[in-house]
Amino acid sequence: MIKVQFAARSERWATYEAPLTTAFAEAGLEVDLRQEHPTAEVDYVIYAPNSDLQDFTPYRRCKAVLSLWAGVEQIAPNKTLTQPLCRMVDPGLTAGMVEWVTGHVLRYHLDIDRGLKTQDRWDPVVPPLAQERPVTVLGLGALGSACATTLAGLGFPVTGWSRAAKSISGIRCEDGSEGLQNALQDARIVVLLLPDTKATENTLNAQTLALLPRGARIINPGRGPLIDDDALLSALNTGQIAHATLDVFRTEPLPADHPYWAHPNVTVTPHIAAETRPKTAAQMIAQNIRRGEENKPFLNLVDRQLGY
Ligand code: NAP
Repeated sequence: MIKVQFAARSERWATYEAPLTTAFAEAGLEVDLRQEHPTAEVDYVIYAPNSDLQDFTPYRRCKAVLSLWAGVEQIAPNKTLTQPLCRMVDPGLTAGMVEWVTGHVLRYHLDIDRGLKTQDRWDPVVPPLAQERPVTVLGLGALGSACATTLAGLGFPVTGWSRAAKSISGIRCEDGSEGLQNALQDARIVVLLLPDTKATENTLNAQTLALLPRGARIINPGRGPLIDDDALLSALNTGQIAHATLDVFRTEPLPADHPYWAHPNVTVTPHIAAETRPKTAAQMIAQNIRRGEENKPFLNLVDRQLGY
């Protein structure tokens, strides 16, 4: 019997217990799933960093820690966690992010706000076609590559940027610091889907925002620290950036007195771009536990040096 501990906020247990039980059965795994096991007997931990579990030292037998979250910046620095750490890649979460990003890109592209504001007059302004609106996606991982591919499918010329060189059909792929310059210089809309690491902090700053064509728009469902907030506010005030849609922030919930709330050219959404979906996430967890039991390499392993 494989002993699996579910270590997330206790209210999540009610949401996850049934989908996990089903997914383990479907994967042919005999699992004893509980919120508490004697620590030295646990084979796998399913984990969210806002649970009470912070010290992994007693989990001597644990073969892997399986994160319920895609972003692991709060977990990866935990020095007691020496076991393999897998981040969440969940088809349901990916689908949610693709829908959210596509919706916000189309809001900008079609200037839906303008249409809503001109309900009192006949004022025909025809938007350009998608093929005339270059979009750049910073981060070409599970989420960025899915969003980039969907946007390219709608006709947008899409450029993507990653750490290592990549080749994705239909996407102009850039990497490294020179690649960032190439990716930004013609982008009318920029989507941030990078992880929060030392290397990605302030990817959008005064210098990089200045590389964009005047009037570009920013969509950030990645993480707050990817953007230098003061630099973005200045760029919004000068019109260098026409509008920003921000889902994630350095401090969450976004403090009531933060200038983003009152800024006429900022849309704040409360970290809802994409959520882990229990049914599909449970299937991914079961798949990884099965791989562990078959001595196959885990999927979606976090590189602790890189921090993602
Ligand atoms: P991922 O698969 O790990 O992909 C990360 C991408 O960023 C990769 O393409 C990686 O490049 C690139 N990258 C990392 N460091 C870089 C650097 N220094 N320079 C250039 N590119 C760099 O992550 P994911 O699953 O797509 O998720 C991305 C992020 O979305 C998560 O970390 C999380 O913060 C955020 N997220 C937000 C929500 C929400 O609701 N708002 C929900 C889920 C996730 P390589 O391909 O070369 O490795």
